[in-house]
Amino acid sequence: MSNPFYSIIVPVYNEEENVQILTNEIVSVMEKLNKPYEIIYIDDGSKDKSLEIMKKLKSENPQIRIIVFEKNSGQSAALDAGFRKAKGEVIITMDADLQNDPKDIPLLLDALKEADAAVGWRATRKDSIKKKITSRLGNFFRNLFLGERIHDTGCSLKAFKKETIGRLKLFKGMHRFLPALVTMEGYKVVEVKVNHRPRVYGKTKYGFFDRFLTATPDLFAVIWMKRRVIPYRIKEEI
Ligand code: UDP
Ligand code: MG
Repeated sequence: MSNPFYSIIVPVYNEEENVQILTNEIVSVMEKLNKPYEIIYIDDGSKDKSLEIMKKLKSENPQIRIIVFEKNSGQSAALDAGFRKAKGEVIITMDADLQNDPKDIPLLLDALKEADAAVGWRATRKDSIKKKITSRLGNFFRNLFLGERIHDTGCSLKAFKKETIGRLKLFKGMHRFLPALVTMEGYKVVEVKVNHRPRVYGKTKYGFFDRFLTATPDLFAVIWMKRRVIPYRIKEEI
């Protein structure tokens, strides 16, 4: 297989009903782009049949790679592993639960013509009221304290030029701050309105506790990082 141009990174934790459908959806979109691509599934310690199904999918599709974690390590860990393993020039991230729509990938790629990263904005979100309110509040405070105007930092559907992720060091929960982390390194981030679908199969992995109570102290870490970041650029090497 020639070197992939696109790497699609998908954290998977107990998504047995979703991975087959998701693979079909991703493949049908990516085939139209006429550039080599890879799909990297990170099995984050699934206890259901997700891994078994992904192995079967890989046997039918050489574009698929699977990274298997020893145990459940979280969405940030899965993204970090995917970022490090990705061989593409453009890195696309998304959830495995079919809430993101692969049909939006070309929109994000278009936006990359004028930016270093393009992040999804779920303008009409298909989640519970409680989740929508927590997320609104989270985005409000994040923007207030970080001086940003990102509507939806939590949307997993994002596209990055390779160099932007090279500078990231992810910690637990940091997947919620990717636009801020990339911006503070001096890169241009744009938002793109994307489709959002209700979760039909499987369950959300986060409750109020993770979404609000752990994200709040994380925000203070990011505020500190923003103050201390060193976004240097090398001019030349002689
Ligand atoms: N996920 C993961 N490890 C975890 C929790 C979640 O890999 O410990 C994956 C999950 O399978 C999904 C994505 O991260 O692909 C987002 O999770 P979820 O849909 O539960 O989050 P929500 O949409 O409710 O914010
Ligand atoms: Mg979801």
